[in-house]
Amino acid sequence: MVVTSSEILIESINPSTKEVLGRVPIMGKGKVDEVVAASQKAYEMWQLTSYKQRAKYIGKLRQVIADQADDIARLISEEVGKPLAEAYLSELTGPLDTCTWLIENCEKLLNDQTITLSNPLLSSKQSIVTFEPLGVVGIIAPWNYPFSIPMMAILMAIMVGNTVVLKPSEKSPLIGLKIAELCQAAGLPPSVVEVITGDRETGKFLSEANLAKLIFTGSVQGGQKVMAQAAANLTPLSLELGGKDAAVVLPDAPLDWTCRGLVWGAFTNAGQACASVERVYLVKGKNTEKMLAKLVKLTSALKLGAGTADSTDVGPLIDEVQLAKVKEHVEDAVGKGARILAGGHSREDLGGYFFEPTILTDVNHTMKVMTEETFGPLMPIMVVENEDQAVELANDSQYGLCATIWAGKLERAECVARDLNVGTALINDCLFSHATPQLPWGGIKKSGFGRSHSYFGLYDLVNIKHISIDSAGGSHRVWWYPYGKGKIKMGKGGIQMLHGRMANRPSGLLNFVGNAFGQAEPGEENKESK
Ligand code: NAD
Repeated sequence: MVVTSSEILIESINPSTKEVLGRVPIMGKGKVDEVVAASQKAYEMWQLTSYKQRAKYIGKLRQVIADQADDIARLISEEVGKPLAEAYLSELTGPLDTCTWLIENCEKLLNDQTITLSNPLLSSKQSIVTFEPLGVVGIIAPWNYPFSIPMMAILMAIMVGNTVVLKPSEKSPLIGLKIAELCQAAGLPPSVVEVITGDRETGKFLSEANLAKLIFTGSVQGGQKVMAQAAANLTPLSLELGGKDAAVVLPDAPLDWTCRGLVWGAFTNAGQACASVERVYLVKGKNTEKMLAKLVKLTSALKLGAGTADSTDVGPLIDEVQLAKVKEHVEDAVGKGARILAGGHSREDLGGYFFEPTILTDVNHTMKVMTEETFGPLMPIMVVENEDQAVELANDSQYGLCATIWAGKLERAECVARDLNVGTALINDCLFSHATPQLPWGGIKKSGFGRSHSYFGLYDLVNIKHISIDSAGGSHRVWWYPYGKGKIKMGKGGIQMLHGRMANRPSGLLNFVGNAFGQAEPGEENKESK
């Protein structure tokens, strides 16, 4: 991208070092509309390509991503501070697996379906459901999984024949531009995937543009605004918003596995995952003290540092706003009686926006740390008396994205999973499912709506179109004009014939048949049977 001196720019900052990595333009309304128009033009050709042709492009894209994995991982690590191991494991595998899954399954999943109709009056009809692309899909993406979230959405959208305009976060624009570069390197036709750079205002222009669908991933506040903005054009949208994911730990949970899982779930990506373990309900049992001690030991051993350093376990927060929010949540909790068992301090001495992985206990639902999304490396733990209390507290949230249940007896854990008001409930693991293209993803309550990934996600990206073919011929349909007493009798008879009590069905049949085949000429009333 050529940046001219007259443009207003945003700076991409490395949160581990605060150094400026690059500058990109903030695109205005004129540019956004121009790009959407180019995408619409590209759609006219792209929608005509076959699944096989599109699968070939997706295959090339998979190759290009795999070939450039080191460059992509390093850029992610630099621009959002994620440890390199996470850049490979949680940013690259999801899109690559999505390529494979789409190539192998998309056409099969979106094959035409024939529908059997139960009403005998419709027996001459054949109904087909076909899945057609929608048009230009806008994608507004966050910075926390700056590659995998938009890339998986792009792959799904273009594989079904849509074109895409992506607006990456203003905090990770270079990764957005890298996505454009990868699409170009894979030989995708021009404008099938467009990337626009900018801030919230640019996102606003995109959400107000002439789109067939909008996929927004970000904060609740952002989602609320985007929904209002998209309303003017009645643009259908899916909202993937924040979470306050609870972990319910049952007394028989395997000690080592559970502690390691919780520590990873709370501190991966420095806690900046929508599906992070944000609060823990530890049901009292004989292992409670041992579990707390083990969680503290594992947490204290985590190495804080720059994302690009091989030994780093936990990187920085994205910026000073996020750092301030984490500090505020800790101060609020401590002020209301919480105890810090591990960590608890910011570490700006390390050069970036660092905060120690922190465990808090003696917490309750008057504290922000238990009710608001922190999006930072905090694990507040509430020891509760029993399973029912844990479920009640877990459900006491404005969010409903994910939850985890940690247990020995899996049947018991499944019962708890069914009681939790969330879009995803994972037993004895956390966070893995977003990167798995076969599994549906999405939330309820303020975590948003719509489902991405899986065949449910594919259905969200197509026009589910019904085609009905009638081979009846003859003069007319019994429910067409003209109306009259006879037609009313026929309707009444039909209802009794098909749905009435057994005793009323024979008279229903007679009334229906006797009145169904009267005059068909417009203006003439049906003859009434005697
Ligand atoms: P954000 O809402 O600040 O920004 C997200 C994107 O939306 C950015 O590209 C931003 O420029 C754009 N944007 C913001 N306001 C807008 C507006 N009014 N109109 C148009 N575009 C607008 O969120 P963020 O800080 O980038 O991301 C963190 C949030 O995202 C967290 O709450 C996290 O839980 C959530 N998230 C959810 C999921 C999920 O799948 N449910 C995944 C990742 C992140």
